[in-house]
Amino acid sequence: GESTPTKHQRKKARRLREVLRLRAPRFLTGVSLTLARSTLLDPPFAMGLSMAVVGVLASCVDRGPWPCLESGCPRSSVSCEDLGSACRAFFRDIWLSLPSADLEGRRVQDECSATCGLCSDPPASHCTLVSREVLMEAHEPSGTFEVQRLTFALPAGAHASGPTAHVKVRAPDSGGQRNRVRAYSMRLDSSNSSFTLTVKIYPGGPPHTRGTSAYLGGVAVGSQVHVPQTRALRWATEPTRASRVGLIAFGVGIAECMEPLEFLLAAGVEVRLVYGNRHERQILYRRELRELLQQYPSTFAVRHCLSRPDAPHEPDTEVESECVAGERATAGRANAGVVAEEFVGSWGDEGARTAYYVVVGTGRMEHAAWEWLAALGVSRRDNDLLQGVRWQPLVPHARGRNA
Ligand SMILES: Cc1cc2nc3c(=O)[nH]c(=O)nc-3n(C[C@H](O)[C@H](O)[C@H](O)COP(=O)(O)OP(=O)(O)OC[C@H]3O[C@@H](n4cnc5c(N)ncnc54)[C@H](O)[C@@H]3O)c2cc1C
Repeated sequence: GESTPTKHQRKKARRLREVLRLRAPRFLTGVSLTLARSTLLDPPFAMGLSMAVVGVLASCVDRGPWPCLESGCPRSSVSCEDLGSACRAFFRDIWLSLPSADLEGRRVQDECSATCGLCSDPPASHCTLVSREVLMEAHEPSGTFEVQRLTFALPAGAHASGPTAHVKVRAPDSGGQRNRVRAYSMRLDSSNSSFTLTVKIYPGGPPHTRGTSAYLGGVAVGSQVHVPQTRALRWATEPTRASRVGLIAFGVGIAECMEPLEFLLAAGVEVRLVYGNRHERQILYRRELRELLQQYPSTFAVRHCLSRPDAPHEPDTEVESECVAGERATAGRANAGVVAEEFVGSWGDEGARTAYYVVVGTGRMEHAAWEWLAALGVSRRDNDLLQGVRWQPLVPHARGRNA
């Protein structure tokens, strides 16, 4: 009978106990006893119900909080956030005596539709494209591509860390291509209400390639893009203690460097940037870099490495360019020689070590750059200044169709 709950019931009760972090025996006994009557014990039924709820447009409002005055309640009032891991449970399963009579027969998800991820209008982790700016158009042997700066509105409830972070963008399934998820560097605006992506738009797309950048390149302003996840970038050390930082960026990778660069310079850190591109017209954010050179003439320097300058040059020779003070452009790719020249002994106090580095490019380029740095006694494990942490939902609790 009810006095000897089964193993399954005890397991379910443990789960609910975790939900509210309950400890007191009376409340717990109540939970385990009432579970015997709960459809929670019938997963197929529960699933059918939750799908039915998803099918109708949820109101997208969390109700509560509710008084919790029984022995064992974690505090005198509990909210949807506390109940978020028991969305399918009935309130009757959690309270011995319901805090409000109208909760009879109601499940947590009926009252906590936002927390339980049942809001379907608008989808929680979709971001509206607010504006598009073409930063560059380039013709390469593999095709013509643009680099676009895309500004998105941050949806309500988003937990985006910033100012710099990564996001994942998911393009809709198309032409047999599924799971068209790609990562991009994002920059939050100062009011945390929008963010920008700087995207190199590769030609191609379904059915042959994933084509997420091509999708982003064609999305109409005003439409929504699915951004399921984000991850913060954390400083490996207190940035002001880094004192001297080397940045190595390739192509569109400069986008991820801009905010850390501004931050470090403002904090008085000495920074050198080695920036690789094919030719001058592909240099991104040059105006912003020059403004920083002007603002921090004694602590900032830039070396552009141009693999295909307009006129043929001997490798590592200066390229004719209208460089401003603190800026150089040389012919040839960035390589071990360039990083040794820039980061060892050329800071004005011969021989001092650059303690931290930020390297941003494709995986292959980043790997190569860390190999060059290894020759200077630098390791990615110890000297990487900015590190990505765990991926998290952009909008917490946006589960199911919204995630
Ligand atoms: C953490 C992280 C952050 C990133 N941040 C950015 C960012 O801020 N901006 C940005 O534009 N990209 C960024 N990327 C790269 C991005 O995730 C995609 O790889 C890129 O947009 C290509 O995806 P796609 O689906 O359009 O390519 P696909 O459709 O798979 O490929 C299209 C065509 O482009 C070629 N191609 C694809 N990728 C490359 C490449 N890297 N180099 C040369 N040719 C290629 C393919 O061979 C194919 O011909 C980042 C990647 C990571 C892992």
